[in-house]
Amino acid sequence: MALGLRNALAGVGVTNLKIACGNNCTNSTAQTKYQAPTGSHRWKLFDSKMNLNAAMWDNLDANGRCNLMLHELLHWAGFPGSPTHDDTGDDEVYSCGRYCGKCSAALLGGNRPHGRSADCATCSSNPVKKAVCGSLKKWMSGPCTVNFGMGPQPFAAKCDWGTEPCANCQWLQSLSCDGTLQGEFGNICCEACPCPAGCVQPSIVCGWPGLVAMEWDTCIDGALPHCR
Ligand SMILES: [Zn+2]
Repeated sequence: MALGLRNALAGVGVTNLKIACGNNCTNSTAQTKYQAPTGSHRWKLFDSKMNLNAAMWDNLDANGRCNLMLHELLHWAGFPGSPTHDDTGDDEVYSCGRYCGKCSAALLGGNRPHGRSADCATCSSNPVKKAVCGSLKKWMSGPCTVNFGMGPQPFAAKCDWGTEPCANCQWLQSLSCDGTLQGEFGNICCEACPCPAGCVQPSIVCGWPGLVAMEWDTCIDGALPHCR
């Protein structure tokens, strides 16, 4: 997307952009009508149009204006955002506008869970870049199955030091700050055991402090590169 915008700013693959400030719609800070280039670049017939709401623009601080302008320029460059763009405000266009607007919280979705860290992750194009924004590890709970790419298979975790199957298991999920699943780590512990007469305890008991401590949340906004 960044490359697309850079090309657009260099005049590649876009029509001219007219910017006006006559948008009086109550809940619209700005609208950009994308016009695809038609024919040769030289003989394009129509311009793209951005229409700002002057009153709402006046209420934005400098970072909010940067956020909004980047958002609208991405539309001009041919990025409409997700199908739920104006319902959720958490797609790439919204997130990159906010994050690259020095972590502005303005516009729809500005208070999404994990806030700036989530915007950072959504605006990052691959897992390595997303990891710079922080990460989450959390325990999940459910049937004791394991998936090696061929669908869920029964997992052989045992209670009572290896004699009884677990009734329920927990496993660790690793997530980017925007909730993108990055990895899952087996069925690590037995959450519940049938525990017949004489049962001692599960082989690895969920809730053991050492396991609980494996939860992790570094999506805390503090050290994000664009928030300083
Ligand atoms: Zn938009």
